[in-house]
Amino acid sequence: MSKYVAAIDQGTTSTRCILFNHQGNIVSVGQKEHEQIYPHPGWVEHNPTEIWKNTLEVIAIARINVSATAADIAAIGITNQRETTVVWNKRTGKPYYNALVWQDTRTTELVAKYEREGGLNQFREITGLPVSTYFSGLKLKWLLDNVEGIREDAEKGEAIFGNMDTFLIWHLTGGTHGDGGIHVTDVTNASRTQLMNLKTLQWDKEMLAAYDIPENMLPAIKSSSEIYGYVNNEILPGVPVAGDLGDQHAALVGQTCFKPGMAKNTYGTGCFLVMNTGNELKTSENGLLTTIAYKFGDNPVQYALEGSVAVTGALVQWVRDNLGLIKKSSDIEKLAQTVEDNGGAYFVPAFSGLYAPYWRNDARGVIAGLTGYVNKGHIARAVLEASAYQTLDVVRAMEQDSGIELASLRVDGGMVANELLMQFQSDILNTQVVSPAVAETTALGAAYAAGLAVGYWKNTDELTANWAVAHTWNPNMEEATREKFYKGWQKAVTKSYGWMD
Ligand code: ADP
Repeated sequence: MSKYVAAIDQGTTSTRCILFNHQGNIVSVGQKEHEQIYPHPGWVEHNPTEIWKNTLEVIAIARINVSATAADIAAIGITNQRETTVVWNKRTGKPYYNALVWQDTRTTELVAKYEREGGLNQFREITGLPVSTYFSGLKLKWLLDNVEGIREDAEKGEAIFGNMDTFLIWHLTGGTHGDGGIHVTDVTNASRTQLMNLKTLQWDKEMLAAYDIPENMLPAIKSSSEIYGYVNNEILPGVPVAGDLGDQHAALVGQTCFKPGMAKNTYGTGCFLVMNTGNELKTSENGLLTTIAYKFGDNPVQYALEGSVAVTGALVQWVRDNLGLIKKSSDIEKLAQTVEDNGGAYFVPAFSGLYAPYWRNDARGVIAGLTGYVNKGHIARAVLEASAYQTLDVVRAMEQDSGIELASLRVDGGMVANELLMQFQSDILNTQVVSPAVAETTALGAAYAAGLAVGYWKNTDELTANWAVAHTWNPNMEEATREKFYKGWQKAVTKSYGWMD
């Protein structure tokens, strides 16, 4: 048996390649950041070609660290920032335009048009999602309508669409050599385009008509765990590409939340709480998204409820890069520790509107509750607490929709390193918060999907047995204090509305 499974984690800020062993432990990591491109307020782009080059580089680093050859690697799985949209030419592999990143709000006016014409929830029944700037469908429509040549080439079948998973799989399986990459995606990524029917797991004709998207530019929809093709590149020649999951779905798998009612929250650039709801498709009454949890090969699809928050770790980066209050993201904890509490200040980071459970495209960021007393330590606290409050909003909505009270919350992502935040999260939720021994759950989930497809792991029980606790935070806050803080937050949220009129 090969020694490892490789995962490529194509995230918002960086691309990683991680090799895992049979116990699900990390053996080697390669990582590289890519440029964040902000051409106008609210526009966020990535250069897909830079990301493809970084992907090759990080695979090489991960391999060289442990002198792994292609024969040492049983399979490769991909996980990716979801919704981020790229269109490229099938013959040259060249993108027509930068990738429109999931946070990009350039389709705000399109959203308003659909809202006027049929309401934000007109496609919820089919897709599980509200009309929003967030999902790929409208981003793709914008590219088709605004970038010269795309629609024409798409009609001819030459311009093809994908999220970053599709783009990378196409390149890995030979697209770059001009001998035809494989044009596929998985059900989880497809579920975030707002173009897939959640019941049939196929592109939905009504959605394609509503957004005016030519079907022949779309990838084939596959399960999350099967052999899609083989690497046709000297980086890992012949290795099966066998797993594909959107990052949040991958984290759910990496956290081994295989039973209905199990949930995980990932604290990265944004925050994403996902609860497995089993075979049952639940439509949310409280502003959550209905989505696919995963589908392993021919097994039945598993559904999930999701609450996504656009800006959490990104706010820490903003404080670092735009205010210069800290040098690196982790410094925020020390700054926050210089004070006892938030001093009455709340930061609502609605930089690209508010996602779950509010769905306000007209919201923009506010710092509320300021007095002369507030200093940068309080701001640092308010910044961290914003992640915890936004999570609390989502948890309350999820408990209402699912009728399940969360017994404990499995957490992961870059911000979990922040002790102050995790303790405050447990306090404000009044729930136990637990982090796993293997923190890279997103990459692990992709590795699990790929490993299952080639028999490196036998079944999900084997994966569940790999999961272990690293750290537990228990709640320690008076009920009255919790309620007082939460009221302050809710009031601050209302101040973020109405900035796009
Ligand atoms: P992604 O996969 O979305 O790129 P990561 O899971 O790598 O994100 O997390 C990176 C995010 O976490 C960044 O936005 C960064 O600002 C934030 N972050 C990292 N470490 C800390 C920390 N110790 N305290 C607070 N925020 C942090």
